[in-house]
Amino acid sequence: MDFRFSEEEELFRSTVREFCEKYIAPRWIEIDEARKGTPVDLIKRMGEQGLFCIPVREEYGGMGGTMTMAAIAVDEMAYYDPSIAVPVYTLLCNGWPLLLDLYGSEEAKSEILPKVAAGEAFFGIATTEPQGGSDIAGTRVTAKKEGKKWIFNGEKAYISGVKEALELPWGGGFFLIARTGPKEAGHRSLTTFAFLAKKDGEIVKGFEPTYYEDIGRAGISCGGFMLNNVEVDDKYRIGEENKGFYYTMEGFNVARILVAAAAVGSARWALDQAKEWFKTRKLFGRYISSFQGVNFKFAELYARLEAARLIIYRAAWLADQIYIHKNPTYSPRDLNVPVAMAKMMGPEVAVDIYEEVMKWFGAYGYTRECPIFRGWLGTFSYVIGAEGAQNIMRYIIARDVIGAEYVRPKLAGE
Ligand SMILES: Cc1cc2nc3c(=O)[nH]c(=O)nc-3n(C[C@H](O)[C@H](O)[C@H](O)COP(=O)(O)OP(=O)(O)OC[C@H]3O[C@@H](n4cnc5c(N)ncnc54)[C@H](O)[C@@H]3O)c2cc1C
Repeated sequence: MDFRFSEEEELFRSTVREFCEKYIAPRWIEIDEARKGTPVDLIKRMGEQGLFCIPVREEYGGMGGTMTMAAIAVDEMAYYDPSIAVPVYTLLCNGWPLLLDLYGSEEAKSEILPKVAAGEAFFGIATTEPQGGSDIAGTRVTAKKEGKKWIFNGEKAYISGVKEALELPWGGGFFLIARTGPKEAGHRSLTTFAFLAKKDGEIVKGFEPTYYEDIGRAGISCGGFMLNNVEVDDKYRIGEENKGFYYTMEGFNVARILVAAAAVGSARWALDQAKEWFKTRKLFGRYISSFQGVNFKFAELYARLEAARLIIYRAAWLADQIYIHKNPTYSPRDLNVPVAMAKMMGPEVAVDIYEEVMKWFGAYGYTRECPIFRGWLGTFSYVIGAEGAQNIMRYIIARDVIGAEYVRPKLAGE
């Protein structure tokens, strides 16, 4: 076992750090306060820096890097934008493009991925619908095949990056799941697509966006959209027809590693803020960090954060074995438990850290002048359920460790 990052990874981390110190740290509060999503000029700059499509192959405009490198980038970025909005934009444009690279058609990959890598297009995920996000097998958006085209109808909800996809010069879209067969077939009649809301500067006909006002991480938009007879060419289908459920689960396994990396990067910043505060805050003639009620809690949270980091980077290493190095010892299913543990632990320890740090800052921590609350609200989005509800992570772990037959509830008709 070797717990060190390689020289190349360390170098990459310091390059990302320098970029974030220069271009993200001075702007993150202003971006969060503006509530207008990720600025297009920053997206372009991040594209030029090579922060998107890190694990995508070079022939499709990617960096030809690894998931470990993508996790390093997001972890660092979240330290400098602890509201995690810009890191969320980045993680989406790393995780979901990898799925397009793995399973998309040659034409779709060549058209979309170089644009995402350059910061001219956005590529996120659209599974959630108004009736509930956890039950992907219950997807209601339909795609009906007519010759070489698919006709989409229905509604997606709570989707990150809708505004950015429409504002970027070329456009963008989502890895989108839709029902392509009988409802009774459940998860076996779903297909995935590289669905473009805007391409070549034009918003597609029949696409109607709406926006939500999220309480946190306002530096990336969150919206929904209606699809009214939207036509999509079959070249944008990702993978085989009616197997979309499985590609989506693989995609979540990739993206959730980066979600967890964002959470721990932000929490690392919060603990560093606390360390600085401890050097100045004195009560009863002593530093507040000299009270065991404070320093024991700090130690406990520090250790939990380190444990989460190890689990997250181990999951990234495993994803690299499967998707980048194609090591036949491992299969995509091997990622289920490691990734669910990472997504469960990363955001939960982050929120626990924020709640303590805010208390250590006392009344000042409860003001808008003190920036800590921005990280608390941002990381809480992942405890609520972005990229999968926490209970679903617990379910995946229990199902795969105890055994599906003892855990999975019987579905109607079984
Ligand atoms: C800020 C933000 C950004 C988001 N961005 C995106 C995006 O880009 N793309 C996208 O597709 N979605 C996105 N989502 C939606 C996200 O994926 C969903 O919130 C998530 O899947 C949960 O779905 P839901 O919110 O409808 O809750 P529901 O699925 O309705 O769940 C409600 C509650 O029931 C619990 N629950 C559900 N099923 C079970 C079960 N089997 N066992 C135990 N408990 C259960 C859940 O844990 C949860 O607490 C985003 C959400 C947020 C908050």
